[in-house]
Amino acid sequence: MNAAHPPYVPRHRKTTELLVVHCSATRPTLDIGVKDITQWHRQRGFDTVGYHYVIRRNGEVQTGRPESAIGAHVKGHNANSIGVCLAGGVDATGKPENNFTSEQFAALRGLLEQLGTRYPDARILGHRDLSPDRNGDGVISSSEFIKACPSFDVRAWLKRYT
Ligand SMILES: [Zn+2]
Repeated sequence: MNAAHPPYVPRHRKTTELLVVHCSATRPTLDIGVKDITQWHRQRGFDTVGYHYVIRRNGEVQTGRPESAIGAHVKGHNANSIGVCLAGGVDATGKPENNFTSEQFAALRGLLEQLGTRYPDARILGHRDLSPDRNGDGVISSSEFIKACPSFDVRAWLKRYT
């Protein structure tokens, strides 16, 4: 499969306005990392892993795409954002669940602090906060899985530290 895949050539981003938190939508027992996600994303037709960073269940921060490259993680916002993905985020039945480890939250905090020094004007939010309000009624439908990502309220979580 890899043999048939063209080599990944990064395209560089001009602006960084958003730091977007995602989850892998995998069960907490699944110890996945950047290698696994790269495979999945290639199967979906991406050049390589869509995220810039992946945080494993044990809190290890792994690099995906180069930080300066355009990612593939949030429709309509890739050209001006960095994507960070936490491993986990669904329960045994596949429903969204905030089941991240304290190591992951600590690592996320540290990573966002670092990114915040490099991109001081960037806003931090969750993928679901960028969901399109398709019918314009101000309510985001819960029927679409992507809208749950990353399975917790990033802005409320941030507020506890600032
Ligand atoms: Zn997402």
